[in-house]
Amino acid sequence: MSTPTPITVAHGDGIGPEIMDATLRILEAAGARLDIETIEIGEKVYREGHAGGIRPESWDSLRRTRVFLKAPITTPQGGGVKSLNVTIRKSLGLYANVRPCVAYHPFVKTRFPTMDLVIVRENEEDLYAGIEHRQTDEVFQCLKLISRPGCERIVRYAFEYARLNKRRKVTCFTKDNIMKITDGLFHRVFDDIGAEYPDLEKEHWIVDIGAAKVADSPEDFDVIVMPNLYGDIISDIAAQVSGSVGLGGSSNIGEHCAMFEAIHGSAPDIAGKGIANPSGLLLGAVMMLVHIGQGDIATRVHNAWMRTLEDGVHTGDIFVDGQSRERAGTTAFADAVIARLGQKPEGLTPVEYAVGTASAPPVASEQRMPPAPRQRKELVGVDLFLDWRGSSPKVLGDTLRAIDGDGLALDFISNRGVKVYPTGMPETFCTDHWRCRFLATDDTVTHAQVVALLQRAATAGFDFVKTEHLCRFDGQNGFSAGHG
Ligand code: NAD
Repeated sequence: MSTPTPITVAHGDGIGPEIMDATLRILEAAGARLDIETIEIGEKVYREGHAGGIRPESWDSLRRTRVFLKAPITTPQGGGVKSLNVTIRKSLGLYANVRPCVAYHPFVKTRFPTMDLVIVRENEEDLYAGIEHRQTDEVFQCLKLISRPGCERIVRYAFEYARLNKRRKVTCFTKDNIMKITDGLFHRVFDDIGAEYPDLEKEHWIVDIGAAKVADSPEDFDVIVMPNLYGDIISDIAAQVSGSVGLGGSSNIGEHCAMFEAIHGSAPDIAGKGIANPSGLLLGAVMMLVHIGQGDIATRVHNAWMRTLEDGVHTGDIFVDGQSRERAGTTAFADAVIARLGQKPEGLTPVEYAVGTASAPPVASEQRMPPAPRQRKELVGVDLFLDWRGSSPKVLGDTLRAIDGDGLALDFISNRGVKVYPTGMPETFCTDHWRCRFLATDDTVTHAQVVALLQRAATAGFDFVKTEHLCRFDGQNGFSAGHG
């Protein structure tokens, strides 16, 4: 018998301890070879003053075991508190969030009996970089950061996952009709890397119609890869239409560590009542077993769990009168799964996980694309953002002309992205936040010229709240044009 695999376990808050106990009992009965280290996370740790909900010494355990089975926690409301999940994902570089959304028809009610899709969500970038600023009385900003290596890692992970799990198609969702530079990069990387997987079908949808299709005809999808925010929202939609958010498990995969959990929260409304469904966490644990090479145990557990559903032993959240046979509490449900270990489902399709290989190993450094080649970068202007309250864009524009000079001249002013000077529409609503684009009059400018422009702006009494440099990369503009 192989040596047990060290894992870190956290029992969490609310229903967390109940569903974790049930899950660990099933894993043990199934013969999982685990060496468990327990850490405490969540409410109590937040109250001790740890802003991320985790004690510093707990990171040592995570670094040692590199595998984390985590029950849900309650995130305290209020300032000064950081999301534990976001902290863990970012600190440990867990860049891929994988959420299978499967229908268990007719045992769990769903309008989409054949639905079986997997969402691969980028987990670290996008609007979740958490870089937000208040810039004026009226305008607040959140930065959307998308990196080429970030796109390459997640897209390659999705294709590798699809291939290893014998999926036929990978779909990409972005909003690159609007965000041509950031989402455009994600889409381009999808096309480039996709070309290396001729065995897999590929398609791209704009995220809004893509989301509508997931809600309306999820059977048309197989593996879907997308940036962080879209993935966050659409994976919940997909889990819900598959039958129940309470059944979803997920993995968060990085190069060095991986975390496995249920997708639902700590359900404080039913905590301590012994009625919570442990299935989401159990299916997260099944993904963990596959990840650590114990596919044989994962197969036993998953098949016994499906057989339990088929036999009509259901927790209250999925219980249907006339269809379910027994309303089980958390403990009784776990006992029912344990009693069926070794059995296979008869109506649902049994699973068979490979032993010794992860469902999709993290993309190792050497597998990544080489760093982007250095391109010729030229500074061709600057967007100067002003906090300004005045009578009209024309007054601002005409006043700003006074600081033109030394190789930079005002090109246009926009407000919330809509051009308002030198031309614009009288109907455009303006806030106190103005983007003033200055372009080089002689093709390129230096940093010193930009600094001199800022100096002239300050002397003229303008309150600039930020600047964005306008660069050309190998002759191509690296910035969007003004609308309107
Ligand atoms: P929730 O998922 O905890 O609960 C939503 C509803 O689903 C509730 O009615 C609950 O009773 C029910 N439910 C959830 N899981 C269930 C289960 N296993 N069995 C039966 N019913 C279940 O979402 P919420 O109420 O919005 O959040 C509660 C807390 O959980 C919040 O503090 C939130 O921040 C936290 N949360 C944590 C995680 C995590 O740790 N990964 C994820 C989401 C939410």
